[in-house]
Amino acid sequence: MKRYDAIKKIVESLNDEFIVCNLGAPSRELYNIKDRDENFYMLGSMGLVSSISFGLAISKPNKKVICIDGDGSLLMNLGSLTTIANNNPQNLTLVVIDNSSYGSTGDQKTYTSQKTNLEVIAKGAGFESNIVINREENIIPSLKNLGTGTHFVLIKVDPGNAQVENVPLQPQELKERFMKVIST
Ligand SMILES: [Mg+2]
Repeated sequence: MKRYDAIKKIVESLNDEFIVCNLGAPSRELYNIKDRDENFYMLGSMGLVSSISFGLAISKPNKKVICIDGDGSLLMNLGSLTTIANNNPQNLTLVVIDNSSYGSTGDQKTYTSQKTNLEVIAKGAGFESNIVINREENIIPSLKNLGTGTHFVLIKVDPGNAQVENVPLQPQELKERFMKVIST
């Protein structure tokens, strides 16, 4: 399975959750699989998608928030895991799609291809709900089974980006669209 296949299954498992998506290829893939007003595509600030998702989750406690992060991005902002786990918002699922590479910049290998295990790091940070998914067919049942809580979901995939169009939304347009949907 590649990242594109994983995102497709994530989208199929959702109802009206907000998604905040890691920048670059993941956002392009999500946009092309299913654009919706509830999607926010990061256009910069690499590493901060989990922090932004956390902020959204605590400010909208009655709405579920799905963060789609990547291994390279999360490795830049590991401190975010401790903030999220200790504050324990009951409506946040952090999905890390781990392809052991910096997919958007040419598939240079990350340290998850060597000794680093993000699931162990998440447990150490204090996440009490941890899931590792290796098979595509397990994504929908695993995500649908999650109740309230702060969940860490690691999906292991092969490197490789789908050849899809760029997100055509301008930053201002994207910001305003998302602000509108989170205000209702
Ligand atoms: Mg990656």
